[in-house]
Amino acid sequence: MKMVIHISSAVHDPVIAKVILDTGVAINVDRADIDATSGEIVLEVPADACARVASAFEREGASVSVLEHPIIRDDDECVHCGACIGICPVAVFSFEPDWSVAMDESKCIQCGTCITACPHGALKIESE
Ligand code: SF4
Ligand code: SF4
Repeated sequence: MKMVIHISSAVHDPVIAKVILDTGVAINVDRADIDATSGEIVLEVPADACARVASAFEREGASVSVLEHPIIRDDDECVHCGACIGICPVAVFSFEPDWSVAMDESKCIQCGTCITACPHGALKIESE
């Protein structure tokens, strides 16, 4: 399950390491944007450990959002042009045998690349 962590202070603390040690959960970092004052981190966490991991991050002062649908497509707007297929770094989109475009949202790391590439504005990122 995908989870977004926002850290607004103390970015030099090893927050992820602390949570892994605290919970014993194997957490995969999908994407991390961190500067001197804040950070946004997208994580892959086993579904049965989400609540435990979220609580541990909150104890470290981070805000947490569990992403039920990391990327959302408006099927009324999608024309199955395929423009999103090649530009997604984690292969969320693919052609079906009938040339319709399928998506596996569970892979999405919320990089945002497909949002601007879609000519019909059919895609948006789930926000907190
Ligand atoms: S780029 Fe947009 S319109 Fe084209 S297949 Fe992807 S979601 Fe659909
Ligand atoms: S935001 Fe779009 S391009 Fe980026 S990982 Fe998700 S589906 Fe792929």
